[in-house]
Amino acid sequence: MNSSTTTSGLTFDVQLSPQRKTPQERAALLDDPGFGTVFTDHMVTIRYSEEKGWYDARLEPYGPVTLDPATASLHYAQEIFEGLKAYRHPDGTVACFRPEANAARFNRSARRMAMPELGEELFVGAIETLLRYDGEWVPSQQSSSLYLRPFMFATDVGLGVNNPSRTYLFMLIASPSGAYFSGGVKPVTVWLSEDYTRAAPGGTGEAKFAGNYAASFLAQAQAVEQGCDQVVWLDAVEHRWVEEMGGMNLFFVFGSGDDARLVTPALTGTLLPGITRDSLLKLAPELGWPTEEGRISTDRWREAALSGELTEVFACGTAAVITPVGHVKGPGGEFTIGDGTPGPVTTRLREELVALQYGTRADTHGWIRTFA
Ligand SMILES: *Cc1c(COP(=O)(O)O)cnc(C)c1O
Repeated sequence: MNSSTTTSGLTFDVQLSPQRKTPQERAALLDDPGFGTVFTDHMVTIRYSEEKGWYDARLEPYGPVTLDPATASLHYAQEIFEGLKAYRHPDGTVACFRPEANAARFNRSARRMAMPELGEELFVGAIETLLRYDGEWVPSQQSSSLYLRPFMFATDVGLGVNNPSRTYLFMLIASPSGAYFSGGVKPVTVWLSEDYTRAAPGGTGEAKFAGNYAASFLAQAQAVEQGCDQVVWLDAVEHRWVEEMGGMNLFFVFGSGDDARLVTPALTGTLLPGITRDSLLKLAPELGWPTEEGRISTDRWREAALSGELTEVFACGTAAVITPVGHVKGPGGEFTIGDGTPGPVTTRLREELVALQYGTRADTHGWIRTFA
């Protein structure tokens, strides 16, 4: 079946999948989807060329992409992505959390990688189109959601290395996901990596660039070898300023109760500016906890944890929302945060954010965008 649907000025050609899952098959898949392995019936594709700009927008059956072996992105890694979720609200509607912020970040990543910007309307229009046809894939189970993965890569064919590609493919795929960490919110043990760095000044750390992840796997493997769950990245120059944990931003809680205050590493250009991070910087003061963007060294982290001044540490990001850090290991030894269990500030902020995302708390910030 072919039809078309106009969203945000660009017309999406709609080709429905002849192999759409039946409601029973879908329900079985949504029962325990895990993370990132089950995909919906359709995907969005939009092409770009220098002459035409963005064109040929489609909703089509989910499936493989055929590429010439000399496709530029396979050789020179011009590829960026985003990650956000669609949530089922109690009234049955489907909503995203701050998709405009993802659109803006996608375009900042594009600029850094010498790729064309997509425009917020087209980015959100792609999400709207996919949710219109695959909205039934948004699970209603607690802590479940439909993870949305927009991405863009270079499609010029040729090995010339001096110039960015002149053609690109934007795609949006969607994957129902259950709770990110199975077994509930468990504190993680982290490894302070002194052997590897994620991002250097002037580099690509601020962009959601695929290569940043490729470069992180060995450090993550080293963390696992050390009996840890996640790697903590330190700055590339002095190897002592804390930047991020894996693919999540970090928060440090000093003091407790009404006197608690939060510190998160400042965006120096080597950190990924998380939308969850930004949201918590606004939410925490509303709950009575001041926030500060600052600098934390590994020495200060250890000393403050040992003295009890530092009471909680957590990581935050779209996929896992908020994850407490219970234990820290590094080449110089190890220590525990608080008593190693999730602290009250961590737990309260997680509840608040999750309630906003799932629509059980009124959205006073204009962060929720409802679709169908
Ligand atoms: C995506 C990402 C984050 C978290 O960003 P959110 O917008 O909160 O999901 C943090 N660090 C890195 C390296 C990331 O890629």
